[in-house]
Amino acid sequence: MFSDPTRLSLSQTADQLKKRQLSSEKLVLAFLERIETINPEINAYITLDRIGAIRGAQEADKRLDAKQGGPLTGIPLAIKDLFCTQGVRTTCASKILNNFTPPYESTVTTRLKAAGAVMLGKTNMDEFAMGSSNETSFFGSVKNPWDKSRIPGGSSGGSAAAVAANLCTAALGTDTGGSIRQPAALTGITGLKPTYGRVSRFGMIAFASSLDQAGPMTQSAEDAALLLQTMAGHDPKDATSINAPVPDYVAELNTGLKGRKVGIPAEYFSEGLSQSVREALETAKKQFEALGAELVPLSLPTTKQAIPTYYILAPAEASSNLARYDGVRFGYRCDNPQDLRDLFFRTRAEGFGSEVKRRIMLGTYVLSSGYYDAYYRKAQKVRRLIANDFKAAFEKVDLLLAPTTPDTAFKLGEKTDDPVQMYLSDIFTINVNLAGLPALSIPCGFDNANLPIGLQLIGRPLDESGILSAAHAYQQATDWHTRNPAL
Ligand code: GLN
Repeated sequence: MFSDPTRLSLSQTADQLKKRQLSSEKLVLAFLERIETINPEINAYITLDRIGAIRGAQEADKRLDAKQGGPLTGIPLAIKDLFCTQGVRTTCASKILNNFTPPYESTVTTRLKAAGAVMLGKTNMDEFAMGSSNETSFFGSVKNPWDKSRIPGGSSGGSAAAVAANLCTAALGTDTGGSIRQPAALTGITGLKPTYGRVSRFGMIAFASSLDQAGPMTQSAEDAALLLQTMAGHDPKDATSINAPVPDYVAELNTGLKGRKVGIPAEYFSEGLSQSVREALETAKKQFEALGAELVPLSLPTTKQAIPTYYILAPAEASSNLARYDGVRFGYRCDNPQDLRDLFFRTRAEGFGSEVKRRIMLGTYVLSSGYYDAYYRKAQKVRRLIANDFKAAFEKVDLLLAPTTPDTAFKLGEKTDDPVQMYLSDIFTINVNLAGLPALSIPCGFDNANLPIGLQLIGRPLDESGILSAAHAYQQATDWHTRNPAL
């Protein structure tokens, strides 16, 4: 057992809290102290809610004393700064929302707080979740806890770094094109993107509404199951939320890998994959076999089309969603507007960063008359073909195994001048969003520079249990997920 409670996994923490060997207040204070010393180097948090966290912990301790708590009661969480939190500033890492304090709470954070979870603060991210490296944040880059000269991945890089550096017990992220799984892979943690519609999007600041999905970022698959249990479920406030019963993810964790058919998509192991990632994945495949899985080689021919398709559809939706930031109702407003036109123009010119502007321009272009059919409509058709590819694969296998990223974490600044290179690093994650499937990333090794490598498991629609139990079986047999960076 660790003497430092900030090192404990969520399930270990819950156990100690329940047995009253640990108080939530003591735990929160330990995190706040650790954040004070370590966060200045990592920049994982944008806003801390010290008073709210201590108060929440005290209430949780009362519930736990009265034996009324559940598995999340008193658990300190870090929340990506795009979940609206009532009374706590929510910026989406943008200057345009720098002064925005929501008057309401997102469904996901409402559910977690009702279960007794405690919010430590709001984590850094790419501006409006647009990016793969956390370098587009108005609040500066997040540093990878394994090597501070490198990116933590994006867009949920603050949440990933906070979990990896033990600055929270677990965190929330969102994944539109990989933003939970990619930073999870690059920081050596577990990250799950649920099926589109499994978790309510109400109160999440929208980027691309047909792709956005919230999920847990944790030390293990078991911890992810514990968080998802409370996050998942139908919400009448989100018209795209699925009205289907939520299984008992924790009880189903021990299904094991015996007899499960695991597809190995050839396109994910072709050119562009770095040597170290390839080797770690080869070893992991053998471990899956040893655990009883049957590996089935197969093909997902539309894999290559995913990047152009996503980088048409996501900006199109973003250009529409971000039209609301105009300096009129909330958020940043330019000084001394001359007239309404000047107010709109300068507010947006001054309030948005350059990547966000690039996406708005791209999106506006592909939706404009004369180009709509050539780009937007075409991309929608390709999106269907991509989903069909996965559908055909899941007629043969139960889940898919693939790398999460082509390479380990790159250097800060390495790709900032070349957006296309940056977009290409999403090659293995965005297909899953286009098809609406659940997928997770777990650590499966390290490269020569001691940087974590991620393994991705992709499941059938609503089969979060299938990928969580496979990940759990692997984590019972390996210890990659228990390693910590030296800080
Ligand atoms: N890197 C992708 C993008 O920039 C994915 C972002 C996300 O999942 N939020 O759009």
